[in-house]
This record gives sequence, structure tokens and C-alpha cells, in this order.
Amino acid sequence: MIAGLAIGAKIGFIYLRGEYRYLLKIMEKAVADAYAKGFLGKNIFGSDTEFQIITQTGAGAYEVGEESALMESLEGKRGVPRIKPPFPAVVGLYGGPTVINNAETIATVPHVISMGGPAYAAVGSERNGGTRLFSLSGHIERPGVYELPMGYNLKKMIYEVGGGIRGGRKLKAVVPGGSSTPVLLPEEIENLGMDFDQLGKAGSMLGSAGVVVLDDQTCIVEFALRTISFYQHESCGWCIPCREGTDWIKKSLTRFHAGFGTEKDIDNIQYLAQNMLGRTFCPLGDAAAMPTLGFVKKFRKEFEEHLNGKPCPFAKHVELAVV
Ligand code: SF4
Repeated sequence: MIAGLAIGAKIGFIYLRGEYRYLLKIMEKAVADAYAKGFLGKNIFGSDTEFQIITQTGAGAYEVGEESALMESLEGKRGVPRIKPPFPAVVGLYGGPTVINNAETIATVPHVISMGGPAYAAVGSERNGGTRLFSLSGHIERPGVYELPMGYNLKKMIYEVGGGIRGGRKLKAVVPGGSSTPVLLPEEIENLGMDFDQLGKAGSMLGSAGVVVLDDQTCIVEFALRTISFYQHESCGWCIPCREGTDWIKKSLTRFHAGFGTEKDIDNIQYLAQNMLGRTFCPLGDAAAMPTLGFVKKFRKEFEEHLNGKPCPFAKHVELAVV
């Protein structure tokens, strides 16, 4: 509502991914309550201001997280990205100028206004103001979504906020910003603050702030396979490097993990991922290639241990983290 007022918009849409349809009733009740209290509608509190909110669910495609694909879906079309430019602020939903933000970003607005910009920014680290919703998952005692200041120490997040590694096991690796971000080793997270700048310097990204913790019994080859399988499934098929690249990497990793790989496959997987980087229509191609490259680069030895018919060294213990 505040964002609408700021840009003079009369209508806003809340687009909810199909997978999260179970939240729809809660959200629709909140919108209905806002109408009942007079925050939404025509002539809000006797003024000439109007703002309406419409909720809309998708049909379950990850790709509609990309803003132009989201608009296509909202217009009732197949959720594939549009050619840019023009950008949504110029030609957006139904051809009108459109501002698109994540709900998480919009949710910070009341706090920025009530605290004042500088005070809100001071909550976080330098050049990375405010808070972030960090989603802790994987082999962790207390998984969940935690709102913490930007720049929060990752080790502290895992061991204090998240209660440490499940079952008292050792940390093997962390995916710090959602499944598309390159993996980090335990020695790389010493004194690492969770913000855009520090993760960039560490060779990864803050991304969606989805932290996936992997313990020492995790098979990295299987985790890489699980990750690329997600992107292969979610690729909208619009452009060839992503559509074919994710499929070929998935096929190679499936064979590799089953013990039928060769030394050549390791380089081939790297080659395929490298050729997807920067060559796709939307960032999903990069999102699939970056973690693959990170797994092969940092765990090459583990890939080699799977070679020549040898069974996966973790086969008995495999317990995959939720991606
Ligand atoms: S990169 Fe993948 S998801 Fe994006 S447009 Fe191309 S095929 Fe679709």
C-alpha cells in the first residue's frame, strides 16, 4: 500500500508461487481484513486515494520468479521470460509501467519509515543495511527462517542460531545463498559475514539467503546431482544452453554417481557448465551452472573417488539435505 502510494499506482498484485498455495488463505484473509478496516479500496479514509490488491497463484514454475516471466504468467500466458529492454518500469504488466519487488523487500518499508533510513541501515553492515530473512536448512539442529542483521557471522548463524550440525556431526560444506550459489568449505566461513560484499569476496553470493548446511556424511556428487535435477526440471526450455545443458549434466552425474563415470566425465561436466554461463536468456542457466562448477572445483577428489565402478563412499549414509 505504501509502495503504491509512493508511485501513484491504483492497483497491486501479490503473486504467490503454486507450491505455496497453502499460504493463500492466510494471505487472502489479511487482504480482506485490510479492506474491512478501510486501508484498501476507493477513497481510502475519505481521501481521493485508491488502492486495490489482487492475489494470484502460479502453477508451480520456479521460472516465474524472474520478473518478466512472472508478468507473462500473471497475464495468463506460459511463464517464460520476455526480451529486455523494454524493462517492466517502462512496459510491464498489460503493457503498463510496472514496479516488481519481492515481498521480503516490500516488508522492510514500514521499518525503514518508522526507524528512519539511516537508523535502519545501521542495523546491518557497511553498504549492506538492514536485516535479511535467512532460511537455515539441511543438516542442522534447528532449521527455520530467521530474521538477522545483514553481515551476521555465518558460523554463529549455524552453531548458535541453528543449534549446530545435526547429531553432533562435522560440517563438510555450506551453500550460503540458495541452491544456485557456489558452495563454501568450512575454512572459508571463518569470520565470514552474511552480506553481498563479503560473500562476493569469498567467491559465492548472498542470493536468496537460503543457507544449506551439509554434514560430513554428505555425498557431494549426489548433492550436485540433486541440485542440477532441480534446475533441469525447472528449466522452462526456452533456450538451448539451459534446456540441453541441465539435461546433459544431470545425465552425466546420474551415471557418474552410479559408478559408471570416467575421468573424462569430470572435465566434461565442467565444460558443459562453463558453456552455459552467461549464454542463456535468463539467469536460471547461470543458477544451474555456478553450483555445478563449485562442486567440481572444490570436491574434485570426491568425484575421482566415484570412478571406475567404485560404489559411492557415502552410499550407506546418504541423507540428502533439502534443497
Ligand atoms: S535460461 Fe532456462 S529458464 Fe531461462 S529462459 Fe532459458 S531455458 Fe528458460
